[in-house]
Amino acid sequence: MKTAVVTGSTSGIGLAIATAFAKSGTNVVINGLGSLTEVEALRERLEGLGAGKVIFHPADMTRPAEIADLMAVAASEFGGVDILVNNAGIQHVEKIEDFPVEKWDQIIAINLSSSFHTIRAAIPGMKAKGWGRVINIASAHGLIASPFKAAYVAAKHGIMGLTKSVALEVAENGITVNAICPGYVLTPLVEKQIPDTARARGISEAQVKSDVMLKFQPTKEFVSVEEVASTTLFLASDAARSITGTHISIDGGWTAQ
Ligand code: NAD
Repeated sequence: MKTAVVTGSTSGIGLAIATAFAKSGTNVVINGLGSLTEVEALRERLEGLGAGKVIFHPADMTRPAEIADLMAVAASEFGGVDILVNNAGIQHVEKIEDFPVEKWDQIIAINLSSSFHTIRAAIPGMKAKGWGRVINIASAHGLIASPFKAAYVAAKHGIMGLTKSVALEVAENGITVNAICPGYVLTPLVEKQIPDTARARGISEAQVKSDVMLKFQPTKEFVSVEEVASTTLFLASDAARSITGTHISIDGGWTAQ
């Protein structure tokens, strides 16, 4: 039985990915923010979905020592991490001149550096097994930019570079490293930025959805969390063994423009 670590899996896309792995009979280490009662209920629910075991680790993705502990616990509990999904991420929408320095640092830490810390911990075990999958949940903003999202766009472009560099390093070890670049997915992360975007652009919240978010998504529909989870499971499968150092966009055509 394989073991997957999914960072930031108490909500949104990460939760859908953890759910899909649990259903497929994979051991899963979930992680993210949330009260102990909430995460325990979630853990139990996921464990009930399939034959695998599900454990929760509360590592804060801004803290390298906690990330190291998450990876160490996953390895000792399950004898190694086969699949690593770097999903934890936050957003902050603000003009560059008003962008809070601490938000910049936090976004770079969670959306970029945490993946360096999980990957460097996971690779030795994957090399020993001669099999591994690293899947980084990047974004369309890893490929192109939008205004007022300097830290997020910088971090997501950074994760694309990390993906390609590590893929080359481990290409002969049976390990693939890829990114998924979703367009707009209606999760709590997106819902939270609607009021800020409305304020930054001086428009209504309804206009943010129609004129900003879905304006560039040619399908005019939000992507679902389940679509991102399905692509993650595909990249984690043996069928995807020759796909490495690249990305799959799930953006309704956004970056084709
Ligand atoms: P979300 O807010 O629903 O979930 C984010 C998860 O990260 C939660 O489980 C949260 O607890 C966790 N998290 C936040 N800070 C953390 C920290 N310091 N330590 C540990 N965990 C932390 O967001 P989402 O939309 O599901 O986003 C998931 C990923 O997908 C992010 O990397 C995001 O950038 C990316 N993404 C989202 C969209 C979208 O439209 N929603 C589009 C492209 C990419």
